[in-house]
Amino acid sequence: MPRKAAGPVYVKTYSEGEIFLYGGERRALVRVGGRAAGERARVSGGRLIVYGEAHDLKRFITYWYAAETEKIARALVPAWSKKLRVRPLAITVKYMRTRWGSCSSAGRISLNLRLSMLSPDVAEYVIVHELCHMKQMNHSDLFWNEVRSALPEATTLRKKLRAEEREAVL
Ligand SMILES: [Zn+2]
Repeated sequence: MPRKAAGPVYVKTYSEGEIFLYGGERRALVRVGGRAAGERARVSGGRLIVYGEAHDLKRFITYWYAAETEKIARALVPAWSKKLRVRPLAITVKYMRTRWGSCSSAGRISLNLRLSMLSPDVAEYVIVHELCHMKQMNHSDLFWNEVRSALPEATTLRKKLRAEEREAVL
C-alpha cells in the first residue's frame, strides 16, 4: 500500500497543547510530570495526557501509539482473517514512514504504528486491505473487488484515509 505524503507536512515539536490525532480525533497534548503506574499515556476527551519528563514525550507517545495499534490488530485481524479465509504468518506493528501497511508474498503483514491515530473504520480498512493482498498481491481490479466485497464502503474509507493521514504524523 504505497503512500506518499501530500499537502503540508506537519512537524511535531511535542510541546504542550500540540494537536495529536487519535482515533481520527484531535487531542491536545498535556504533559503530567512523574509517572502513573504502568501507564505512559492516555486520552481523556480532547486531551492526550502523557506522563513523563519533556525529553520522554516523543518516545512515550510513539510507544503508546504502537501499543494502541497492537490492540486494534489483536481485535480485528483474527476475525477478518477468518472472514476472508486467509492465514497471515505474522503481524508486525512498526515504524513505517510512508505506508500504512504492507503484506509480503509469504503472508507477513506489517502495520504502521500510527494506525491508531486514524478513525476506527479507516484503521479497519487498512487491515482489510492488507489481508486482501494475501489473495491478490497487487492493486488489480481483482484485488479491489476483494476489498469491496469485504468492505462495501472501501472507496469512501480510502478517501477518508487520504484526508486524515495528513495530520496522522509523529
Ligand atoms: Zn495495497
